[in-house]
Amino acid sequence: MAIIIDGKTIGLQIREEVQQRAAALKVQGVTPCLAVVLAGEDPASLSYVTAKEKALAEAGMESRDIRLPAATTEAELLSLIAALNSDTAVHGILIQLPLPKHINEDRVITAMDPAKDVDGFHPVSVGNMVLGRPGFLPCTPHGVLVLLRKLRIPLSGAHAVVIGRSNIVGKPLANLLARRDVNATVTVCHTGTKDLARHTLQADIVIAAAGSPGLIKAEMIQPGVVVIDVGVNRVPDLTKAKGYRLCGDVDFESVKEKAGFITPVPGGVGPMTIAMLLQNVMQAAEVQYE
Ligand code: NAD
Repeated sequence: MAIIIDGKTIGLQIREEVQQRAAALKVQGVTPCLAVVLAGEDPASLSYVTAKEKALAEAGMESRDIRLPAATTEAELLSLIAALNSDTAVHGILIQLPLPKHINEDRVITAMDPAKDVDGFHPVSVGNMVLGRPGFLPCTPHGVLVLLRKLRIPLSGAHAVVIGRSNIVGKPLANLLARRDVNATVTVCHTGTKDLARHTLQADIVIAAAGSPGLIKAEMIQPGVVVIDVGVNRVPDLTKAKGYRLCGDVDFESVKEKAGFITPVPGGVGPMTIAMLLQNVMQAAEVQYE
């Protein structure tokens, strides 16, 4: 039976550290502030934004809540970003994705001042990450790395199999794990991978970020391995008031009997993502203050 990784408690410890840093900066007359931009009314996006704003308030930080109608044009969004870039009271900008289909996400992300790119999605941030230079790391991949480090999971020389190659999770995660100071050997699997189990069966660490409920089953892993489930999927469940429940990419019930460590969904990677976001806002505010 695996040890269930408590991402909530580890995330809270990080949030308390951030709270202390925010209090110290407040003494200097600066309150870290994140502009949170949500265009449209996607219910999942709305719940993510609400959770982030609540966490900011609990850490003694401000959020500037900007809600835009789904019909907002790209030009309007770009001019809002230009205004936020030059607003010295705003230290970080978060554009909640996905944007409405008629807006080009790449153009919007690239319009942000990289100094305020606390999601780590701007090409400058991505370039700095790949080159190992200082900059903002994307919150979910960074959260997974911090979780593994806090649990003292041996990473140097370990074989990590990452399932997913998106720009926000799979690709940056694979990159961070292969860094010299982490030193894992990384395999990236995706929809073009033939025989996924052949790869996962060779892993010391399996990280699922596919957005496919229950993709990873017990017979696909070796006993005692570390299983990190990034997936957050809504599956219909009429026994729940909302009509759905959340589940990950890992078949938790079977895999927990065989793995050494496993993250639950919810309560595993999700709280680490929020903690890393707060850390990035804090870093942005400190650097801009200096
Ligand atoms: P995405 O759809 O952009 O990418 C999914 C990736 O998985 C793709 O690269 C695809 O090639 C791969 N994939 C899909 N099905 C596969 C399969 N059957 N076999 C092998 N590879 C497969 O998704 P994303 O934005 O990277 O998010 C992935 C999951 O993580 C989603 O469930 C999302 O909700 C969740 N997520 C969670 C957090 C968090 O904080 N916990 C943050 C971001 C994303």
